[in-house]
Amino acid sequence: MNSKHPINICVLGGGFSGLYTALYLSNHPQVKSGDWKITLVERNDNFLFTPLLYELITGELQRWEIAPTYQKLLAGTSIQFCQHIVKKIDLDNRQVQLDNDKSLTYDYLVLGLGTQNRWVDIPGLKNYALTFRTLQDLEQLQAKIHYLETLDRKNFRVAIIGGGPNGVELSCKLADRLGKRAEVLLIDRGNQILKGLSKGVRKASYHALGSRRVQLYLNTNVKEIKEDLITINHGEQNIDVPVNIVIWVAGTQSRSLIQSLNCQQTSSGKLLTNSRLQLIDYPKVFALGDLAQISSKNHSFPGTAQVAYQQASCAAKNIAAIIENKPLKSFNYLHLGDMLTLGRRTAIISSYGINISGQVGGMMRRLAYIFRLPTMRHRLQVLRNFVQKIGLKIRRFFRAIIGSLLGQKSSRKYLE
Ligand SMILES: Cc1cc2nc3c(=O)[nH]c(=O)nc-3n(C[C@H](O)[C@H](O)[C@H](O)COP(=O)(O)OP(=O)(O)OC[C@H]3O[C@@H](n4cnc5c(N)ncnc54)[C@H](O)[C@@H]3O)c2cc1C
Repeated sequence: MNSKHPINICVLGGGFSGLYTALYLSNHPQVKSGDWKITLVERNDNFLFTPLLYELITGELQRWEIAPTYQKLLAGTSIQFCQHIVKKIDLDNRQVQLDNDKSLTYDYLVLGLGTQNRWVDIPGLKNYALTFRTLQDLEQLQAKIHYLETLDRKNFRVAIIGGGPNGVELSCKLADRLGKRAEVLLIDRGNQILKGLSKGVRKASYHALGSRRVQLYLNTNVKEIKEDLITINHGEQNIDVPVNIVIWVAGTQSRSLIQSLNCQQTSSGKLLTNSRLQLIDYPKVFALGDLAQISSKNHSFPGTAQVAYQQASCAAKNIAAIIENKPLKSFNYLHLGDMLTLGRRTAIISSYGINISGQVGGMMRRLAYIFRLPTMRHRLQVLRNFVQKIGLKIRRFFRAIIGSLLGQKSSRKYLE
């Protein structure tokens, strides 16, 4: 291979599919020798481990733990980081146009740009509702809570719209964070929460919501959102509910950049791939994560980090195989289970028919996610912090016991 003209592999999006594909590929000897060049294009300077975003609300984790910078993650690898917004992708001419009016040419392309919030036609939704997908969303929510708290209001009300995992986890965390000061409402138009998840997960979630006094409004449509009021339709009646914070977590949709691509797509704008994750008609372009769907019927997967993470490993292997003229492998998804945080230090884990909930579930979920964090170095730093915190708690626990025993002894002595 000619080292003056390395093979250009361009990865778009530094999320679960893109970043992990780039990291897997970076271990390949041809990348280390400079024969293959990997460029990762991402608009943000921090990666975000979304499943643990809720822990920043309660302060259980710190920002550096779940949102390390790409600079830190990619140090020591030969991945070139290009912090720009992708404006246009020309599949026929193999070009990616960036927001600085420059363009990149590629030999192989990985599409991992994810999805965006799904907006529907509810008056006031875009103006008054917050969302919860990014660090900026978290900052806006925290600023709003802080503002309400500084007003010294005795009570305020938070309405969360969408009874999927995001809505349930957010409701539990916010209920714990705000305590008696706030009333949390969880609204969904369906007749149950967490559709598609196991019975055990749903049962634990209903229990967690109930014990936190989260008010559940099922079969309820949101009609209008104003600055401090929402109108809901429940049982054929329109009801005005005063609220201070509204959070919209009712689904995602394809980005317009992706929908505008000249390739086969589903009716909802997901890119269709074959089982090897290659775009139909563009075998040198791989599409994975939330933006893609494998065309065969028995290959329909949920839009989760678990799927994106496993696809990243498959895409990296297939890119290496295609360059080296080796056979490509089909993607095989292994569903390891579901994990939901249900409040401070609490979670439900459901795996292979076994459910573990409460604080043990919380601890196991945290450990499982630490081992999924990108790069060994970052994993070890977060793990060390976790172990130190637990060590501190155990020390405090034993100190309290010893203190109370000594206290009893000395008071007995005094009485004698
Ligand atoms: C709060 C929250 C909690 C979640 N919890 C779980 C969970 O517990 N378990 C689970 O399995 N899944 C969970 N998910 C879903 C999971 O995050 C997604 O399925 C996963 O991130 C999809 O990976 P992806 O690579 O397709 O997209 P993403 O991870 O969203 O990555 C897309 C990347 O592309 C970048 N990008 C987008 N457009 C552009 C552009 N034009 N130019 C440059 N860069 C761009 C984005 O900044 C982003 O970094 C959660 C999601 C959220 C929001």
